[in-house]
Amino acid sequence: MYRIVIVGGGKGGSSLLEIFSKNNDMSIVGIFDQSSQAEAFKLARDLQIPTYCDLQDITLLDCDIIVNVTGSYTVTKEIEELVPANIEVISNKSARVIWELIVSREKIVERMERYNKTLTFLHEIGILLSRSGSSEKAVKTALERSLDLTGAPSGSIAIYHQEENKMKNLFSIGFSDKFQQTEEWSVREGGITEMILKQNKPVVIDKQMIEENIAHQNIIDEGIKTVMAVSLVDRGEVIGILYNDYKIERKFSEEALNIIGLFATNASTAIKQIKENEFNQHLATTDGLTGLYNFRYFKHSLEREMKKSREMDFKLSLLLMDLDHFKKYNDNFGHLAGDEILKESAIIMRESIRVMDIPARYGGEEFAVILPGSSKEVAVSVAEKIRLRIEENAFSTGDKESINHKVTVSIGVCTFPDDTDDIQDFIDKADLALYVSKHAGRNQVNSFNSAMLPK
Ligand code: GH3
Ligand code: MG
Ligand code: MG
Repeated sequence: MYRIVIVGGGKGGSSLLEIFSKNNDMSIVGIFDQSSQAEAFKLARDLQIPTYCDLQDITLLDCDIIVNVTGSYTVTKEIEELVPANIEVISNKSARVIWELIVSREKIVERMERYNKTLTFLHEIGILLSRSGSSEKAVKTALERSLDLTGAPSGSIAIYHQEENKMKNLFSIGFSDKFQQTEEWSVREGGITEMILKQNKPVVIDKQMIEENIAHQNIIDEGIKTVMAVSLVDRGEVIGILYNDYKIERKFSEEALNIIGLFATNASTAIKQIKENEFNQHLATTDGLTGLYNFRYFKHSLEREMKKSREMDFKLSLLLMDLDHFKKYNDNFGHLAGDEILKESAIIMRESIRVMDIPARYGGEEFAVILPGSSKEVAVSVAEKIRLRIEENAFSTGDKESINHKVTVSIGVCTFPDDTDDIQDFIDKADLALYVSKHAGRNQVNSFNSAMLPK
């Protein structure tokens, strides 16, 4: 442990005091200055380091090193006359060199601390994004955090659609309603968007660049003077662009740009991952041909909806539908034409129900719709609507003759808890009602009643 005395309580003395006092290998035993008002004295008192105004007092102190930061040669002489020769006196240029070395070391430590903080921040963002649940939420979180990071008052995330070579605005914060109406724009060759997409690092677009680009009129109208944009890239694939927008002209340090670059990489990976999960989930629950839910999802939903309806004391209805004489279409026009009819029927069904209803492809040419909260009367009217729309629809299957096929559907309706309380029985009774529709001549709707049960 070195015992150190500082002579000079100005700026230099203050900095030394601050730096030395943080170092465990050094102990400051006193600080000297002619003036009792010296800048460094306040800090010295806070640190409980004795302060002296009379240089003669230096003889009272037990120390190894004296650092003279007054810059005065006379003071050095005076000190050397007062203290024994074994005490080292560092002064003038050597004091200056030491001081500069210490300051630069401090700066490195500070930078490392900042980097550490940034890494922790990025790590936390990664966790936060992965917990977002949906890609929509992840995008929102990513944008909010990026604005926190850069201090931008507004920003947006746009997704790149490669097939159309277009950008589509996905989410924005801090813009006027008018600005938000710009939903998509084409990526022009040689334009700014293309440049951002091609760069693997953040791009700063200054006021002049914004003004020179006529396509950016909406940005000018918004009063934006600087844009910092970074492409969102996951494993070489460009997903989109993250924009941070400022209403002032500003510059960014290389370090700040590096950090936002790291942030964008982190965010891209998380967003891509969540999107992939959603896609896989979609595949697992959806029928590939019609885009309706598959049987597995239907069964799972029916269980869930029955449980909910039981708890809330709500009604729940089920439609089972089967296209009439469908075999005939396949035989006459081919399987592909049959597929087109199935797809178009699915669209009609989806367009005839509410968002909360659950449409599914039950089997080959059989469909089901779960209608939460719907009574039998409501369910029958929905079924009737679907039946009529299919009957009236001219199905085009893209074949040469462009025949407009006519198709009909038979439907069975069953309602919980009116008809049953058991899931399998629920399905069986809807199926029985469908069977009645078929046998009574097809192209009709029947709802279950107990008279349908075999005697
Ligand atoms: P019904 O009025 O009694 O329902 O007569 P149907 O011909 O519709 O009934 P059936 O069950 O005998 O035939 C169903 C037909 O649906 C047979 C099958 O080839 C066809 N089918 C089932 N799944 C698909 C599919 O994914 N694509 C096509 N094109 N046809 C399918
Ligand atoms: Mg069938
Ligand atoms: Mg059929």
